[in-house]
Amino acid sequence: MVDLPGTYSFSSYSFEAYGIVDSIIVDNKKRYELLYLKKPHYHLYCQECHKILEFESLDIHDMFLTHLKSLEFQPTNFNVIINGVCKKCQAH
Ligand SMILES: [Zn+2]
Repeated sequence: MVDLPGTYSFSSYSFEAYGIVDSIIVDNKKRYELLYLKKPHYHLYCQECHKILEFESLDIHDMFLTHLKSLEFQPTNFNVIINGVCKKCQAH
């Protein structure tokens, strides 16, 4: 059995359970991403223009995995969102 948080609709739950999509909650809205198209990546959320930027870093991912291993925790996915202000909005 998979733990089912109350906010999941049935269809999105199904897709998430099969690992086809991943969901992230940004600004109280749920967004979906196709997992198999993505390498481990991290989201940068601009709280001014509400854009989401992404970057990939295998170094950071390795660090996470090493640390989680030391905690004997088995990760199933990563949802990393860093809130802040993007370069464009900082210039304003
Ligand atoms: Zn911005």
